[in-house]
Amino acid sequence: MSAMRESDIRNPEAHARYLELVRIDAEALAADPSRLVRIDCPACGGSDHGAEFEKFGFVYELCHDCDTLFANPRPSPEALLALYGSSESTRFWVEEFFKPVAQARREKIFRPRAQHIAERFPDLAGAAVGDIGAGFGLFLEELRAVWPQAGLTAIEPSADMAAICREKGIDVVESMLEDLDPAEHRFDLLTSFELIEHLHDPLLFLRKTRELLNPGGHLYLTTLNGMGFDIQVHWADSRSIFPPQHLNFMNPGSLTALLERAGFAVDEVTTPGELDWDIVQGRYVSEGLDPGRFFRTVHKHGTDEAKRALQGWIRDAGFSSHMRVLARPAPAEPVPARPVPDRKEGA
Ligand SMILES: [Zn+2]
Repeated sequence: MSAMRESDIRNPEAHARYLELVRIDAEALAADPSRLVRIDCPACGGSDHGAEFEKFGFVYELCHDCDTLFANPRPSPEALLALYGSSESTRFWVEEFFKPVAQARREKIFRPRAQHIAERFPDLAGAAVGDIGAGFGLFLEELRAVWPQAGLTAIEPSADMAAICREKGIDVVESMLEDLDPAEHRFDLLTSFELIEHLHDPLLFLRKTRELLNPGGHLYLTTLNGMGFDIQVHWADSRSIFPPQHLNFMNPGSLTALLERAGFAVDEVTTPGELDWDIVQGRYVSEGLDPGRFFRTVHKHGTDEAKRALQGWIRDAGFSSHMRVLARPAPAEPVPARPVPDRKEGA
């Protein structure tokens, strides 16, 4: 596989137009307090958090305990459901943003993921696998190619996406994960790609995920890392940070704490991203967004090899903005990793 560039998987003009539509949705939502809910830290549950910046009418707060960045207040679950069901931004994302790069994403993202899973979990080749938020079914198609014996299920609440998955011969549960009955649906492997950052309540989602896994089963999850290089450099200007879609920016430590609260044992948290430097360089070149003298010096004088080595360090040291976790249901009942005294969870 050749090195991935941001332009392979995102058309810059379509991306900018998408974010404009998102801003319109966000500002309309932010203007209606009846559709917003205040929360404590979605990762550790801590109540010590404060404002960092405002974007599209939403305030992003930083947890002073675990450094999770999160939109607060945030859209209610009902408001999010309405948004994903019918908004122009969602239609644009599907039709204009995703579809033109779908084949590139299949090759650069979904195929390597399927191969990584096949190598990592050889015992699961004939197992029950569910992809939560399966979308166009690209990942499950790629997994079927390497694991033809596996029982594959797309868990996908959107009727349009569910229909696309069915056309590809994939079994579909047309539902939100939160509504699945563990008596009817059990899995040996559940995957969740770039989903948890969108959720109103990641803890609720992960507890449900745990209920649906067989003993000895695995969760394979990817999300954005709020301690990732390009997000840290651009912060409020980051194109990865946008409400009402991207609400939760955990980091390797806080995602681990969250999974433990949900009853998981974490096997591995890594940041295998390849795009951080390219994202920062791309916005410097195209928009003049300037991260400072050291960046400019490396950009101008650093060799391609030096830049690749820098990205390698960002990836290996846990500071890429693309984060991956592998976890298993913990044998015991869920125990809060770090109890917060004198307050009820979710209060
Ligand atoms: Zn926290």
